[in-house]
Amino acid sequence: MTHPLLDLPPLTARRFAAIEDRVARLLDTRQDVLITQGEALLPLEGAIRAAAGPGTVALNVITGPYGQTFGDWLRDAGATVHDISVPFHTAVRAEQIRAAFAEHPEIDFVSLVHAEAATGNTNPVAEIGEAVREQGALFYLDAVASVGAEPVLPDAWGVDLCVIGAQKAMGGPAGVSAISVSERAWARMAANPDAPRRSYLSLLDWKERWLDAGRRMLPHAPAQLEMLALDACLERIEADGLDAVTARHRRAAEATRAGASALGGGLEPYVHDAADAAPVATTLRVPPSLVARDLVAAALAAGPALPLAAGGGALAAEMIRVNHYGPDATESAVQDSLAALGAALAAQGAAVDPEAARQAVERAWR
Ligand SMILES: *Cc1c(COP(=O)(O)O)cnc(C)c1O
Repeated sequence: MTHPLLDLPPLTARRFAAIEDRVARLLDTRQDVLITQGEALLPLEGAIRAAAGPGTVALNVITGPYGQTFGDWLRDAGATVHDISVPFHTAVRAEQIRAAFAEHPEIDFVSLVHAEAATGNTNPVAEIGEAVREQGALFYLDAVASVGAEPVLPDAWGVDLCVIGAQKAMGGPAGVSAISVSERAWARMAANPDAPRRSYLSLLDWKERWLDAGRRMLPHAPAQLEMLALDACLERIEADGLDAVTARHRRAAEATRAGASALGGGLEPYVHDAADAAPVATTLRVPPSLVARDLVAAALAAGPALPLAAGGGALAAEMIRVNHYGPDATESAVQDSLAALGAALAAQGAAVDPEAARQAVERAWR
């Protein structure tokens, strides 16, 4: 008997290339698109180690935990790094980026996370991209949490290295990821003697052995199941329409903010301005008398499949994350999440109005 997951025909180079082309269409890019055979951390790290080195002066924007990691990699690669940290309840402004350029005119690399699922904010990449272009710096963007939830347009925004993963708003697999690479970025990597080569992290290896060789022969065995899942998820997005998928995420975020505010009990949107709130996930602040981690545990005890999590690390006390992405970008996931949080708050003696929350979600969804 053949097994549907195990006994598959080989995944051909032609199919692999076709899936890359599908990713390029999703991003509306004419840049090279490489599918990388690992979670998004693989191209995120590979791109920094290839494009940055001892001569690099980087502006690293920290709006959540990933920005911190990028700064560590940049320093490890020998770059001089200027960090801008932005409080998690807001987004970075293009003026802050311009001010950093004025202070450090030698900046030639900018790393930014587009949307942060972990902190619930999203950054104005189009405006920032304009500033980065004027500076002439290389622009590196982590769009793992934004792709599928809001527009991600590397060419229009002047992004040189744009990393995506499928497991958040795209509703796809976690084990493969992709990066679009501009000509400028390839040139920077080629000129970097410390760029990884003959390495799992090497983007240049894939350029030489795959892209420049006409994508006729795969340099390694393809991650077959993940590739099939990625193709299926791209096909589903195309069938639904990317605009409809992003609209669903935007609505889920708006409904969660409206519902949490109407629920009461001291719960409020963590990101102050709705314009700075990521469509992929909504973070909520709990009142100081309560512990977010405990409320989430109580809510999950009642509904284990709900897309709820406490904030990471020190945020576990004060932040609840509603991960309304992918298959959970639905009105029912938002309704059920707020109902469970309402019950958990009520059990702690908080005064909540679950019916007002329900109506607010319903209104916002329409
Ligand atoms: C989830 C996430 C990642 C990590 O993706 P993995 O595929 O788990 O490595 C990176 N950046 C951001 C902004 C994310 O939200």
